[in-house]
Amino acid sequence: MILLSNQPLYSKRLESVQTRIAAACKQSSRPVSDVLLLAVSKRHTAAAIKVLHSLGLNEFGESYASEGSVKQQQLADENLVWHFIGPLQSNKTALVARHFDWIHSVDRVKIATRLDRQRPQDMPPLNVLVQVNIDAEPQKAGVLVEDLEPLVDLISTLPALRLRGLMAIPRVGKPTPEQRQSFQAMRNLFESLQSRYETFDTLSMGMSDDLESAIMEGSTMIRIGTALFGPREE
Ligand SMILES: *Cc1c(COP(=O)(O)O)cnc(C)c1O
Repeated sequence: MILLSNQPLYSKRLESVQTRIAAACKQSSRPVSDVLLLAVSKRHTAAAIKVLHSLGLNEFGESYASEGSVKQQQLADENLVWHFIGPLQSNKTALVARHFDWIHSVDRVKIATRLDRQRPQDMPPLNVLVQVNIDAEPQKAGVLVEDLEPLVDLISTLPALRLRGLMAIPRVGKPTPEQRQSFQAMRNLFESLQSRYETFDTLSMGMSDDLESAIMEGSTMIRIGTALFGPREE
C-alpha cells in the first residue's frame, strides 16, 4: 500500500538530491544525463520504493540478497532495475545471479566465477562492477589496486557477466581533500581500463554525504540512500 501522504516528503527529498546533482554537474561542466541516480533502498520498504518509482526513479540498490529478493517479489509488477551493492558471501551468489540486473561488489575470482556459472541462460548477462578498496582499508571489502587488473581481465572473459566498470566506497566521514583524492584515483583507474574494454562505461561512486565530490571526479552513478529515503533502521 502506498501511503499517499508520504509522497510530498519523498518528492521534496528527490528534488533536493536532483538540485545537488545539477549543481555538481554544472560546476564540472558535465551534462546531468551523465550521472545515474541509483536509489539505495536497503532497510526501506517496498511501499517506499513504490513512491520513488512513481516519482520517476527506476533503479534501486539493495545490500542484502535475501532482503532484496523479498522486495523484488513484492514489486514484481513494476518495471524496476535491481542493483546488488553489498558485500557478497559465496553462499548467496545464486540469489544475486538469479534476481539482480547489476552487482557493484565483485572483488574476487571465486565470486565472479560462481555468478557466471549461476546466471540463468535465459537472462541477459549480469552487469558487473568491480569494487576497489581504494584507500586500502584493512576491514573493507574490495580488491586492492595492485590486484585489480587480473580480476578485471578474468571477468571480461566470462560469458554470463558483462564487465561495466568500477565501484568504490572511500573512507566514510565528511568530505575532505583526501576523499576527493580517492575519487580522483578511482577516476584514473577507470579511465586507464576504459580504453581496453569496450563495455566499460560505469564508475559507481558517491553517496548521500559526498555526491558532489564524486560527480566532480567523474562518477557516472551515485548510490543514494538516506538523502532520498530518510534515516534507516540499522
Ligand atoms: C547504504 C549504502 C549506500 C547509501 O548510503 P547513504 O549514505 O544512505 O546514501 C551507498 N552505497 C553502499 C554500498 C551502501 O551500502
